[in-house]
Amino acid sequence: MRVVICGGGVIGACTAYFLSRRGIDVIVVERAEVAAAASGKAGGFLALDWCAGSPLDALARRSFALHAALASELAGDWGYGRTNAHAGFVVPERDVRRRKASELAWLSDGVVIASRLGTAETTAIVNPRKFTAAMMSAAQQHGAGLRHARITGLMRDADGSAVTGVAVDGGVIAADAVVVALGPWSLLAAGWMDLPAVFGRRSPSLVYDTGTDVPADALFLEYPEGGDVLTVEVFPRADGSTHVTAFSGDAPLPLDPGAVTPEPGEIDRLQAICERLSPAFRAERIIARQACFRPVTQDGLPLIGKVGEGAYVATGHSVWGILNAPATGEALAELIADGAARRTDLTPFDPARLPPLDPALLRTR
Ligand SMILES: Cc1cc2nc3c(=O)[nH]c(=O)nc-3n(C[C@H](O)[C@H](O)[C@H](O)COP(=O)(O)OP(=O)(O)OC[C@H]3O[C@@H](n4cnc5c(N)ncnc54)[C@H](O)[C@@H]3O)c2cc1C
Repeated sequence: MRVVICGGGVIGACTAYFLSRRGIDVIVVERAEVAAAASGKAGGFLALDWCAGSPLDALARRSFALHAALASELAGDWGYGRTNAHAGFVVPERDVRRRKASELAWLSDGVVIASRLGTAETTAIVNPRKFTAAMMSAAQQHGAGLRHARITGLMRDADGSAVTGVAVDGGVIAADAVVVALGPWSLLAAGWMDLPAVFGRRSPSLVYDTGTDVPADALFLEYPEGGDVLTVEVFPRADGSTHVTAFSGDAPLPLDPGAVTPEPGEIDRLQAICERLSPAFRAERIIARQACFRPVTQDGLPLIGKVGEGAYVATGHSVWGILNAPATGEALAELIADGAARRTDLTPFDPARLPPLDPALLRTR
């Protein structure tokens, strides 16, 4: 059996790993490079029980356990480590009267840590680009192939009922099963098969080289800005880099993932927020100014499952794609190879729960 996976993001790479581990012939087709999009630009924060009470809970718990297992089983270092997480807030500048941040001395005056959100039992972090690359290379060690090409459509059998491969620039790759894991670009696949809409939500982020100046605790800080309150997310990572993101918005998704670049205005805004948080966030320490689109669906839950004969989808993981990739890959591998996912119930993520997007609504420029 040959499975073609469309997209070399974290979802595609994890699916490739769990399929290839079973001896299945897998080819990942990626237009740019592995982890070129959100999977290489995310924070990499993981939480055991932050989806409790939602349909994501079982997927998140299984994924959290798999992240730990993968870090001990596989070769490579992607900075997996348990961490603490804190909530806090930033006092408006006019109210700062040399008020020191409690506990975390590296923060500026007026940045207050209010409560603990997670401990080493419940929260962890990875470098998401390195994790995605490590999963892809583990899949390759089990025989998976990686092909750099742009997918332009699906191939079908004579009566159009079953998917038989993918069309790429300059050719066709035959397959018994095709998995669409194109992140926000999965929207394109709604022109190729019945698929609910997938949207892209854009966020800028900055990565600082903070060395050992910033302790390894994740922070979620309420930040007042022009009458609004943003949540600033600060993720220090084991390699001495710290990822910061704070806001998101709607923007047109470029067809080419390589054309997603940060806009100067949003980077300046984020940089000003960072400089308010700590002197550790100095401009000369910035090592990445970036933007990416996370994939979201109409009801906020991912689409994971079968969408036709030989056709599968795994996308829409929104803010928890790095966390939930391992159990998604494991479940899809079971579904494709055995006909049913056993470890994680995929019912809440059945793509058929949402109406398919009318392909006439797809406009590409
Ligand atoms: C700022 C930010 C911070 C985040 N932080 C976290 C976090 O801390 N923890 C967490 O769990 N999640 C986080 N996320 C969410 C996470 O990044 C995403 O949910 C996840 O990366 C989505 O992975 P994916 O594989 O579905 O899509 P993507 O990473 O978008 O991968 C899709 C791939 O498809 C390729 N592609 C596109 N078109 C084609 C084509 N025609 N042919 C071939 N290939 C194509 C692209 O190049 C890309 O590599 C964050 C997201 C953002 C934006």
